[in-house]
Amino acid sequence: MNRIEEIIAIMEDVSRYPAKAIRESMEETGKEVIGCFPLYTPEEIVYAAGMIPVGLWGGQKEIKKADKYLQSFCCSIMKENMEHGMEGSYEFLSAIIIPAYCDTLKCVCENWKAAVPDIPLIAMVYPQNRKITAGVEYLVNEYKRVKDELEKISGKKITEKELEESIDLYEEYRKTMSQFVAIASKYPRTIDAKKRHSIIKAAYFTDKKWYIPLIKELTTELNMLPEEAFNGIKVIATGILAEPEVLLDTLVQNNITFAADDLAHESRQFRTGVSNSGTPLERLALRIAGNQKCALLYDEEKTRGQLLLDLVKEYKADGVVVFMMKFCDPEEFDYPIYKKELEAAKIPMLYLEIEQKMDSVEQIRTRIQSFKEMLTV
Ligand code: SF4
Repeated sequence: MNRIEEIIAIMEDVSRYPAKAIRESMEETGKEVIGCFPLYTPEEIVYAAGMIPVGLWGGQKEIKKADKYLQSFCCSIMKENMEHGMEGSYEFLSAIIIPAYCDTLKCVCENWKAAVPDIPLIAMVYPQNRKITAGVEYLVNEYKRVKDELEKISGKKITEKELEESIDLYEEYRKTMSQFVAIASKYPRTIDAKKRHSIIKAAYFTDKKWYIPLIKELTTELNMLPEEAFNGIKVIATGILAEPEVLLDTLVQNNITFAADDLAHESRQFRTGVSNSGTPLERLALRIAGNQKCALLYDEEKTRGQLLLDLVKEYKADGVVVFMMKFCDPEEFDYPIYKKELEAAKIPMLYLEIEQKMDSVEQIRTRIQSFKEMLTV
């Protein structure tokens, strides 16, 4: 096994067994852990508090208890998170943070207190008008509240210096990941769609100080190899997240790779950096203000379609694959707008309606195969 394979295997192990990876991080660092619900939870504040933020983006459990609290039309990520909470899978968490971006998250916030009373909840709201001064001030105050709550849990004050250092670390993470995905697109056989997903996902379950050097090393090792020839199909992936993994297996089997992505779980996490001016909390709030082209952040100009067109052009992609999370209203509202733009530009598109745990993926498998045949004729 060469070093590239070794690092990929480590990342695959972390993303396949997140609880094990989190417990190991806790043992190694002696830190407490805070669960962060999607999407842009201020991990920097958690890290500055001397705790490890871990991402809670659902799972693969059979839903038995969560239905008591969540309606049938809630997305599967939230049902999974609720089920995991009620089943005790999150018992190592000192608290969870839920940012209320959508109606489902608002509903989960209220129900969490009753359904999982043992894990304290820190709820926060993102302003709809995040770019105006009042919106930035509001978000700074929300972050202050999160900071206060975390200080109560950790029993110590978070200093400005700790916040600045944490922001620096997360900026390094964002830069490292942006470099990694750019390089990975040149090695579509070594970093196929599934491996790419596992490598990015592993960041949610480890201390960034452990994760960043490994990704840098992987990027350096890849960079030393000649670019890989690829006779398959390159696509841009868009949506909330690209799961369940069996879909990624099907894409790989059909020689379809991700040239780049616009997934909330992946590149949307690291494509926008913080502002250089202001207090640490203002810098974080301005990062959200400057974040564009995401269904969860109000975009009056509806620029996501142009982003997808730009990515197709930049990466010479053959098409776009839409991973539509079932019952995700914000993503569903965006879809008709960018669909029209992609169709006008004659960009082939594959629409996959997904849930994290699907009883049958046969229909989707057939659609992926048809998409491939359509593009290879
Ligand atoms: S934004 Fe979509 S996927 Fe995320 S919690 Fe809301 S409904 Fe679920």
